[in-house]
Amino acid sequence: MTSEPITIETDVLVIGSGAAGMYAAIEAARGGARVFLIDRSLIGRGGATVMAQMTVAVALGEEVPDAPQHHYDDTIAAGRGLCDEALTQLLCEEAPGCIRELDAWGVGWARKDNHITATAAPGHDRPRCVYVDFINTGPAVSKTLRTVMARNKDIRKAGDICITDLVAGADGEIAGAVGWHLSSGAPVAIAAKATVLATGGLTRLYRRNSASLNMGGDGYALALRAGGSLIDMEFVQFFPIGHLAPRLVGMDPIMWDPFRYKLGGRLLNGRMEEFTSRYGSDEDGKYTLPRDLATFAIFREVEAGRGSPHGGAYLSFEHCTAAALRAAFGPVIDRLAANAIDLTRMPVEVAPIAHYHMGGVVADAQMQTELPGLFAAGEVVGGANGANRLSGNAISEALVFGRRAGRSAAARAKKIARRGWKDLRPNDGRAALELVGNANGGGRGLNTAAMIARLQAIMSDEVGPFRTAAKLDRALADIAALTGELGERPPRRADAADYDLQRLEWFDLRNMLLVAGTVAQSALARTESRGSHQREDFPQTLPHWRRHQRVRLAGAALQVTGAPAEALVS
Ligand SMILES: Cc1cc2nc3c(=O)[nH]c(=O)nc-3n(C[C@H](O)[C@H](O)[C@H](O)COP(=O)(O)OP(=O)(O)OC[C@H]3O[C@@H](n4cnc5c(N)ncnc54)[C@H](O)[C@@H]3O)c2cc1C
Repeated sequence: MTSEPITIETDVLVIGSGAAGMYAAIEAARGGARVFLIDRSLIGRGGATVMAQMTVAVALGEEVPDAPQHHYDDTIAAGRGLCDEALTQLLCEEAPGCIRELDAWGVGWARKDNHITATAAPGHDRPRCVYVDFINTGPAVSKTLRTVMARNKDIRKAGDICITDLVAGADGEIAGAVGWHLSSGAPVAIAAKATVLATGGLTRLYRRNSASLNMGGDGYALALRAGGSLIDMEFVQFFPIGHLAPRLVGMDPIMWDPFRYKLGGRLLNGRMEEFTSRYGSDEDGKYTLPRDLATFAIFREVEAGRGSPHGGAYLSFEHCTAAALRAAFGPVIDRLAANAIDLTRMPVEVAPIAHYHMGGVVADAQMQTELPGLFAAGEVVGGANGANRLSGNAISEALVFGRRAGRSAAARAKKIARRGWKDLRPNDGRAALELVGNANGGGRGLNTAAMIARLQAIMSDEVGPFRTAAKLDRALADIAALTGELGERPPRRADAADYDLQRLEWFDLRNMLLVAGTVAQSALARTESRGSHQREDFPQTLPHWRRHQRVRLAGAALQVTGAPAEALVS
């Protein structure tokens, strides 16, 4: 039995309300479209954007001379030969315009001597990262975009709606989406002349991550099932100095980075020795080591039995005076004190955590995906950062790509006379609706929470930053077993008139397992080491592998293409 769906029609549907989705909505409305912005969480409070505490990379050049070309050069270098140059160029050239527009909207970028100030970050050749204050950059960006949207009557918004499938029209073009209202369980069908996918990243796939619960890679799975392809899925970025111990409440786990830039916090192994120079760093008290190399160095020390007690490294600011710490950390010092952490007297323990995804949906510089009618923006897009992302580039990417996607979506919507739910391809729409609407689902006995934990363990243990064919084969077998266990129909409580967590976890697993497969399979196919993808059985970076891999669904199976002829032979 299928309950009647709530049906909605709009010019532009935006899925996901992080920085990318909100900027897309604003820009699409500016382009004359009626916009419907939806999110599975609260609008503007759901994904990574609102959690980002640090900085945004942009070549403003207000303090020291800078130009988008320098930003581009650094991004390309960090990407280890794999950046999609058109996307990188767009990111670097248009970031200043977005940052200034946010400034005009009142975001409150930190200023010195009346100009926007910028801080240094690893991999950037000069201070280039703007911020709001010690910990509020992402929240301020979110709040500003929410405020701008609130004044715009052409933007309708709805939280608490989880999209489960994109739907094509009779002409085969993407014409909307199907999902369900999480609180009531009601199915939802949205017809749109253009759709923007802005669903963020996938780091919830890993046991230790900086993600929120809604970052399980939904957008990648939606694009795959609709017939799109993904690029560079093997490149998951691990943030090297995520907080590990002691217990820390009320701060984001990647909080240590800016303080390390400012104060040169020392990384020490379990024997209290500095060790990054063993892995090619010449940071010499300053923090210049890119994320992939820092991750590598810490993992290797732990593996060699020289880790800190909880399996990471020490980060020490004990060489700093209390006054210097207070000046650099501001009110954060009080939050640390509330957690019984006194940096003048003790180091903390840090370790790499899954933080960002470089791979994603294939899109061109208009943010048009391979599927007509579908645009993509933000972290869900693959390619701009190649095999390794520079600090601060993710928020710029979300803003720039969001603005561009919104503009493109509005332009497309103008060309389409009308699109209603009845115009959608009947088979696609019906199957998607039956899945969200079915009252008699299976799988009541499934422990979906335990299955998510198992998947996270598999991904961390076998598909972490250091990979081998044996580990990846094991991961793929385990992912296939979990997929079989999950079955085809979501469970549904008999009294399911309200929030059904097990049902939501079933839909999450449906996407997480598919996306985990794309990461593991792409990693298995790439028989070299590059950036954030390190193969212990193929440690060299090989010139003939300077190419992208794509993955798509061929029937029910994932198909990875792009390996060079040399790799296929070996
Ligand atoms: C803790 C943390 C700190 C960070 N710090 C920085 C930093 O300082 N500088 C920097 O440049 N980058 C930083 N990053 C990365 C950066 O924040 C993200 O890459 C960027 O904000 C992504 O923006 P987005 O709009 O693409 O996605 P998000 O902001 O993640 O938004 C995606 C939205 O899509 C919604 N969604 C997902 N699936 C569905 C679905 N099926 N149906 C409906 N809605 C859905 C989610 O609920 C979410 O609200 C940080 C990331 C984290 C996690």
